[in-house]
Amino acid sequence: LFEDLSRYGIRMPKYHEVASKEKSRLSHEVWATFYNFSHAAAFHTWVPEESELKWLSEKYPDTFDKHYRPRFEHWDALQKEGKRWSNPGLPMLCQLCQVPAIFTEPDDPTTTCLRETTYHGMKYHFCSDGCKDIFENEPEKYVQSWLPVHQIFQGNCGGEGLDNVLKYYNLVPGQDNGEYMGSQDQMNWEQWTGRDHKDAPAA
Ligand SMILES: [Zn+2]
Repeated sequence: LFEDLSRYGIRMPKYHEVASKEKSRLSHEVWATFYNFSHAAAFHTWVPEESELKWLSEKYPDTFDKHYRPRFEHWDALQKEGKRWSNPGLPMLCQLCQVPAIFTEPDDPTTTCLRETTYHGMKYHFCSDGCKDIFENEPEKYVQSWLPVHQIFQGNCGGEGLDNVLKYYNLVPGQDNGEYMGSQDQMNWEQWTGRDHKDAPAA
């Protein structure tokens, strides 16, 4: 498509090769982060069941079993022992896209990708070279970002402690977040569709 469009001056976007490298890793990294912060955010998660792990292995033959399945199996074992893992910290947010900087280096899926730059004596953090580039092109625009994690640490979101922060965001622990199994969301889904979540159409 881009070859056909090149006569109009349309080129492949910058960093398209990075997106291609990450396409078989990104969704697993996101799900792992959702799982880590399920107690502190507004969504439910679950550890994929065996049938779901099998599906993921088939769809992502180069990455899933090598990098992500062991992590899910580890969390599953912890959960079965009654020691469900939740991350007690908060992730660094990218100053540009405001997404947690949870993704890995384009050429190394075992190392978190972090970039930083200094502007007017202040340090700013980014999830990728792309976000850093955009910031450096127009820093005045992006230094103004209201980043939730930074605000939480400054006490501007209900004060100290997770309980207060959840109250500030009007989140009811266990109802709005936490485990999907046994949640109102699961019951709604089953009531609306007559199916359990495993039958959901694959994304
Ligand atoms: Zn970013």
